[in-house]
Amino acid sequence: TGGMVAYSEYKTGNSPLSIENKHMDPKKKKMVVLGTGWAGISFVKDLDPSTYDVKVVSPRNYFAFTPLLPSVTCGTVEARSIVEPIRSIVKKRIGEIKFCEAECTKIDAANKKIHCRSTFENSPVPSRDFSLEYDYLVIAVGAQVNTFNTPGVMEHCHFLKEVEDAQRIRKSVIDCFEQAVLPDLSEEEKRKNLHFVIVGGGPTGVEFAAELHDYIHEDLVKLYPGVQKFVKISVIQSGDHILNTFDERISAFAETKFSRDGIEVLTGCRVVSVSCDSITMKIKASGEVCALPYGMVLWSTGVGTRPVVKDFMEQIGQGHRRVLAIDEWLQVKGCKDVFAIGDCASVDQRKIIDDITSIFSVADKDNSGTLTIQEFQDVIDDIRVRYPQVDLYMKTNHMQSLRDLLRDAEGNEMEVDIEGFRSALLHVDSQLKSLPATAQVAAQQGEYLSRCFNCLEECKANPEGPRRFRGSGDHMFLPFRYKHLGQFAPLGGEQAAAELPGDWVSMGHSTQWLWYSVYASKQVSWRTRTLVVSDWTRRFIFGRDSSG
Ligand code: FAD
Ligand code: MG
Ligand code: MG
Ligand code: MG
Ligand code: MG
Repeated sequence: TGGMVAYSEYKTGNSPLSIENKHMDPKKKKMVVLGTGWAGISFVKDLDPSTYDVKVVSPRNYFAFTPLLPSVTCGTVEARSIVEPIRSIVKKRIGEIKFCEAECTKIDAANKKIHCRSTFENSPVPSRDFSLEYDYLVIAVGAQVNTFNTPGVMEHCHFLKEVEDAQRIRKSVIDCFEQAVLPDLSEEEKRKNLHFVIVGGGPTGVEFAAELHDYIHEDLVKLYPGVQKFVKISVIQSGDHILNTFDERISAFAETKFSRDGIEVLTGCRVVSVSCDSITMKIKASGEVCALPYGMVLWSTGVGTRPVVKDFMEQIGQGHRRVLAIDEWLQVKGCKDVFAIGDCASVDQRKIIDDITSIFSVADKDNSGTLTIQEFQDVIDDIRVRYPQVDLYMKTNHMQSLRDLLRDAEGNEMEVDIEGFRSALLHVDSQLKSLPATAQVAAQQGEYLSRCFNCLEECKANPEGPRRFRGSGDHMFLPFRYKHLGQFAPLGGEQAAAELPGDWVSMGHSTQWLWYSVYASKQVSWRTRTLVVSDWTRRFIFGRDSSG
């Protein structure tokens, strides 16, 4: 079975990057990286280019610090402060790492080739097509907005994915205010122009609502006197709570803060269509359909797969899937030498129950057909590394040791046969969770993969392998393991909520300062760090700019 292969592969070190032949390749291997977002940049940043001929392809020649995009929509931070040119990121190694400003239009997996198109908007030269060959391909193209095919969304809504989106939103907010103060407008028209609707109560939508509220109440109402009473911000959320991926305490805190601030939260509503001046939604509980006139809508409801990735998935037999599946070493399932990281892919974690027979036979050293506690103990560490759901299961069930699984009703340790073993581990997979589409995951995957590639050549030269990347078993590379470092939700009014490791939740003004310091320290360069901090300072002293 597939399970058998997976476990024994792991035991014998056949990870995708293990040594295929022991000869040193005199020619550098060609490596192509698609994308300059969180995943692509963190991969390239640490990659040792002396062993690979690296080409990076992306339609954007800069990296954008997405967590600060909501701040750009209201001018709290300037757009140029959160972007860093890719050429300056790889500067030290330019010549070794080459960059092409182009979009990959097709991945040809069978011929190990990609096709690209270069388009320069500000140049009269027509777009140019070219192709590149690869030995290794790293796909880090991120995801695209997901409209769920809702009519009118593409035409009438704003999105917040790219720097240009944030700049457009900023202009559009000002336009709404300028329109509302034109002569001869009825109150109803003013109300419509100043109704800001956010579809999606996830972190981006909530943060934008909070930023917009502060911007309006701290800066704009002073510049547009008399319109304050017509302003309204609404958040439409299909679920029961906003920020539902966060701890309940944070969700509740955000909802309370929003209701105090007058931000209306409409939960349990699904948008069915958007026209040029109103948004139609269905209230799930009653089935009632109603239309809300609006001035501006931000659509922020999750992400979808890009067409180039969809097409690639069809080529490699993943056409039936929603997201590109990769294994725990971040290699695309069913496609050797192609890796995918960040929002464009999802780790397809193996289920322990599918591998139960092979785990049992590896553990049962004396082939007795039963497993003693000692035999189980000897493989526990391997199991925990290979199946991260085991640790989560232990945590949620307050177990000190996996050995506790093999206890009978009286709490005595017992010897089990294969059926007993299967039933003992039956519920472990219930803790399987897919990783969130966040910068944190993307960056950690990029770092992990570059570490593997960096020591791959070292391993070839020295088949014993570098000790530091060896696990407790005899496998070459440990599977990727995500380490959650917590997440923030800025809520406006100099308040934020944070979920930190160890189930620690912190909310309020001090958390906002923690947010400032973490986000300043996470900047990719001292240049952007200085710019961001000076933007914050400028905003504290002079308020935000309102020319649009
Ligand atoms: P991206 O960063 O989107 O990068 C994709 C790259 O691929 C881009 O350079 C793009 O130009 C390029 N590309 C696209 N198509 C092609 C193609 N055909 N060929 C070649 N290149 C291509 N995460 C957090 O952890 N914390 C936060 O606070 C946070 N806040 C966020 C706020 C906002 C407003 C948004 C939009 C996202 C936020 N995220 C946050 C999520 C985070 O930005 C994403 O998870 C992260 O960017 C994913 O990284 P990625 O490299 O997979 O994709
Ligand atoms: Mg990327
Ligand atoms: Mg990015
Ligand atoms: Mg992902
Ligand atoms: Mg035995």
